[in-house]
Amino acid sequence: MFGSRRRRQRELDARLRELYLLEEAYGRYGQPPPALPSPRQPSRVPGFIALVVVAGVTISAVFAMQPQIFPDRVHELLGTTPERLLPARDIPSGPGEFSFMATQPETGDPVGYNPCEVIEVAINPDGAPDDHQELVETAIEHTSDATGLQFELVGTTEDRDFENMSMDDPVLVMWADEDEAPDLADDIAGVGGSYRVSAYGGATERYVTGFVILDRDAYDDMRSDDMRQAIVDHEFGHLVGLGHVDDPRQLMHERGGFVTHYGDGDLTGLAELGAIGCS
Ligand SMILES: [Zn+2]
Repeated sequence: MFGSRRRRQRELDARLRELYLLEEAYGRYGQPPPALPSPRQPSRVPGFIALVVVAGVTISAVFAMQPQIFPDRVHELLGTTPERLLPARDIPSGPGEFSFMATQPETGDPVGYNPCEVIEVAINPDGAPDDHQELVETAIEHTSDATGLQFELVGTTEDRDFENMSMDDPVLVMWADEDEAPDLADDIAGVGGSYRVSAYGGATERYVTGFVILDRDAYDDMRSDDMRQAIVDHEFGHLVGLGHVDDPRQLMHERGGFVTHYGDGDLTGLAELGAIGCS
């Protein structure tokens, strides 16, 4: 699954990425391409939940689509009507805050995963805590329940290159240290984000894969089961498109707030992310 074909795909993706960023730099936006990943949302607030520090990261438009490479796209163009895999969730009403990692340039709607496709997830168990599979399965359950997006844990992987992923790679979940993932420096306990594409420069962007990276040392030291789960859940919130909020009643507070489960604002944002149309 991760053999030479995959390497060739990555080389191609890298070239496409360069082309795309050049187009962004000198074409439509007139700005140099940003350093990847961005934006980061670190904070330094001491206190009981000081370990629950999480950085949001989104990586812009890293791939370009070509139908000869991605035959599913051809099926769409031939008129196959995609259908949701799970029902959309009712959008709850509540005072809680939520935000999105990215919005569509033209409509302001959130960028999210295609609800007509399974989001595959693979775990790299190297350095992961003994309960890693349970942590990931539970985060998947919580996030799927809140979004109506369907995930599938496809197994383990030896892949650790979260900075150069191909769009057919499963979401990568792994435990690492700051030498490997500099976002985990200081008291950052996790980082999560997704890659997004826009087909042929079209207006609608979609996430296609992403990563969740947990701090190995933090998980070695952490004894609270609720906290261990809350950090993975928070990063899965980023993965599917939620950003940070200032509301401490929400799990998507940059330090996880005062809660260990998705709050009402989190759930509203997750439901909206899962309710976008198929593409
Ligand atoms: Zn975060």
